[in-house]
Amino acid sequence: MRPLSCLSVAAAMTARKAFLLLACAWTIALAAPVSSAAAASAATDGQGASRTVVLVTASWHRADHLNLAFRGVDVLTPTLDDLARRGVLFGDASTVAPSPRAAAAALMTGRPPPVTGVYDEETRLGDAAQTLAERFEAAGWFTCASLGERPLGEASGLLQGFQRSDAPSDVRRREARDVVQRALALLDEADGRDVFLWVHLGDAAWPHDPPQALLDDAYEPRDDPRDPRLKLPMPFLRALPLPYADITDRNWPWCRYKACIRALDAALAPLFETPRVLSGVTAYVGLQGMALGQSGLFYKAFGTAPEIAEVPLLVSAPDAPRGVRDPRPASVLDVGVTLLARAGLPVDGFPGRDLFAKGERDGDRFMLSEHAVSASLARGDLQLVIPLQPRKLPFLTDKRNMHQAMLFDVAADPLLEHDLLAPGDGDVVAEPRELGQRGLAMLTDLVTWLRVEPLEGWAEPGEPDPDEEALRAELGYAGRPLATLRPPWRPDGCPICRALKPR
Ligand SMILES: [Zn+2]
Repeated sequence: MRPLSCLSVAAAMTARKAFLLLACAWTIALAAPVSSAAAASAATDGQGASRTVVLVTASWHRADHLNLAFRGVDVLTPTLDDLARRGVLFGDASTVAPSPRAAAAALMTGRPPPVTGVYDEETRLGDAAQTLAERFEAAGWFTCASLGERPLGEASGLLQGFQRSDAPSDVRRREARDVVQRALALLDEADGRDVFLWVHLGDAAWPHDPPQALLDDAYEPRDDPRDPRLKLPMPFLRALPLPYADITDRNWPWCRYKACIRALDAALAPLFETPRVLSGVTAYVGLQGMALGQSGLFYKAFGTAPEIAEVPLLVSAPDAPRGVRDPRPASVLDVGVTLLARAGLPVDGFPGRDLFAKGERDGDRFMLSEHAVSASLARGDLQLVIPLQPRKLPFLTDKRNMHQAMLFDVAADPLLEHDLLAPGDGDVVAEPRELGQRGLAMLTDLVTWLRVEPLEGWAEPGEPDPDEEALRAELGYAGRPLATLRPPWRPDGCPICRALKPR
């Protein structure tokens, strides 16, 4: 474990300098797992009275936009850095779904989208679902939520198990400062009781309208984002949504995003400095990343590329390691059981891996894209993607027919632009034998992951949010919902289907 003082020094430097000095020094050691009994006594407010567990989720927060992630992005996140110093930063954390509601449903249940049946923004999590909040509620805790995005509110089914909640109903989004103020009021309401608080922030979602002061800090006010002497490179050019179509400075969209992350970070400070939160258990997790131009997409999370899949994940808890970076794979699916264990509650029957347990963790990264357009499995340096919709749809996976696998070398091609199975014009039909032994094993595992029986009553048809729809239309998300409440894997007798053993 690294002493705190070293990290404090690191914080005073730029991320880049700190990376050079400390990349090797920031150890990967993890202390012995904390026993439930120890966690139970430790999660109290210092007077041995009540326990506090705070879960903060943020949609659209990329893993590289965290100062202490040292991923080469110069971004200021002092509040989250402080949480990292008090706890563990999981350096290889990922989501299972690119839409906020689907990812939140997975996090709250510990189960992936094919099992919950929630893999878009229209489906709601049914009352039959067993959620993290219900676990806390059943244990007698006060459960409450303050949410910054309406699509995750009442209509989503995600609030089951919460005795009190404060989510916007008139506006689509509330800014982080407001959400945190309301969260603090809920904490006051908890008074002397054990409390599980969920705070959700949507400030990193497009459109990016951060406070002017933060924006001026991120982007030199004298620079002109529409400078006619500049020219956007091609993928950026066709990617920016209409209101920004005349932007010529490629730094401008990034700076706005960074300023939003900074606003979100600053807003969390009063919550994280509250004594009962400081002495309790706190987790911060991004629900999904965001495309920011390189792949020819902006502000979206269509596919399953690392920029979408990788998220920040931080957990602090009394008696847990402090200021440690854990390089082992971690998933949003693991957050629920990790929090139950830290709270000293029974974890039986709740899926996921306790992130504080010793031992190796499997690095397979499964993901189902929104509306089940495609699914992917990243394993080692390879990522396999299978389109799950007929070809007529105007999506990225349109290069291939339904079920015709694509294979990518993620290390060399993190944006998944060069399909190893289609070195030519991309218009070939992949046969299973082209995948090779490793690829075929991945295909089998991915299809097995996809064709589980969804749990009865866990997914229900819901109403699309009108403002959400309008935003998406502006961003160029195509068409209407496609696969709501349909199984993501539908056999069609193609070469891939014929090669796979029946279930
Ligand atoms: Zn097929």
